Amino acid sequence: MTALKSEYRLVLEAGAQALEAALSGLDTEGVLARAAEIYAGELCAVSSFGAESAVILHMIAKTAPDTPILFLDTYKLFDETLAYRDALVARLGLNDVRTITPEPAHLEADDPDGDLHLRNPDLCCHIRKTLPLIRALRPFKVWISGRKRHHGGTRAALPRVEVQDGKLKLNPLFDWPPDRIEAYFDEHDLPRHPLVAQGYPSLGCLPCTQPVEAGEDPRAGRWAGQEKTECGIHFDADGKLVRSGQ
Ligand code: SF4
Repeated sequence: MTALKSEYRLVLEAGAQALEAALSGLDTEGVLARAAEIYAGELCAVSSFGAESAVILHMIAKTAPDTPILFLDTYKLFDETLAYRDALVARLGLNDVRTITPEPAHLEADDPDGDLHLRNPDLCCHIRKTLPLIRALRPFKVWISGRKRHHGGTRAALPRVEVQDGKLKLNPLFDWPPDRIEAYFDEHDLPRHPLVAQGYPSLGCLPCTQPVEAGEDPRAGRWAGQEKTECGIHFDADGKLVRSGQ
């Protein structure tokens, strides 16, 4: 670890602690509103417009509607996800949804036939997700994610504020259990992703997502049969590779 990286890491960790302290005692909407106040112009959200995304998007629309929402279109998504994005944008009145796409040069170099997910899914996620996301996050200091501990795996110990890819990452729903998510959908009559009713409790790219049986781990259908459980290869503040997807 170079001295510069070490210093940068300390700055980020101090920022995470300060933000955590500023959010202490607030409810979820209060957390979003306070973060938007502190980091005005430097805060965005990243959403997959997946199975549970409507909850955090609804809260952002209520508390900080000018927050930019970054949506990653890998060109491998379900058509239903794109339609759901459009429906939610209209329903919630989201006015700054930015669709991010992979660099054409990366696709041409590494995935000219569109089958990289079969040969090297980590590299596929890297060029279709991680690199475009890192590029899109450059103008921001903090990004909001809808991840939750109940998703299990690497998310089981998810903190509310963490450091990732040289940014602060805010997980306002980190401790929400499934029944609270369900209740929020019902209370606000939020539309569901159409594939949830077809057995997809967690949605990603079409080639890497399968339906699951009732009672199975909700993320069991993601990269089923592979060791891979998360989409991203990320870099921590020391430049070290870490797996931790969205
Ligand atoms: S989830 Fe699959 S198709 Fe999508 S970027 Fe990753 S490996 Fe490629």
